[in-house]
Amino acid sequence: MASQEIETLTAALSRLPGLGPRSARRAVLWLIKRRETSLVQLVEALGAVRRALVECEVCGNVDTANPCGICADPRRDGRALCVVEEVADLWALDRARLFTGKYHVLGGRLSALDGIRPEDIAIDTLLRRVGSGGIDEVLLAMNATLEGQTTAHYIAERLEGLPVRVTQLAHGLPVGGELDYLDEGTLAQAIRARRPVP
Ligand SMILES: [Zn+2]
Repeated sequence: MASQEIETLTAALSRLPGLGPRSARRAVLWLIKRRETSLVQLVEALGAVRRALVECEVCGNVDTANPCGICADPRRDGRALCVVEEVADLWALDRARLFTGKYHVLGGRLSALDGIRPEDIAIDTLLRRVGSGGIDEVLLAMNATLEGQTTAHYIAERLEGLPVRVTQLAHGLPVGGELDYLDEGTLAQAIRARRPVP
């Protein structure tokens, strides 16, 4: 029976995506063996991330500055806004380097199953951003899942009447595909061939 501290650490690690209780326990044992080197580095890196990271009040990105580096970058085209479900999607799309505008992170997707309603994600702030003007195109870059597409349709409806072109990523994304699992070439193609929402 391991000590309470080790049990707590194992339980915390086992909640990480991709880790279950067994791999969490292996990771803990590995860290204990290297408690003067790897464990110290991990503690310091976690502390640094915790101290430095803030959520951008404009777009919802996570960065060391608020507004974030993307919102503050004058070389980016503020007239094009790409709407994504999660920060991971923003990072994935930005790695593809084809979208030169700015972003808006919803922080989730509409889901009847999980009880996620429009007011639970950042749709109102999106409508305020678009409504305040200066934006020509809103690219809806939701995941190719049922919930992602439901969210995209809902937002497209709410944007009706505002003077913006609403586009979405091209078909060709695998159905059920989550953006942050796609390779950069596929993402770049989906951005390049984006099309108007009917
Ligand atoms: Zn930002």
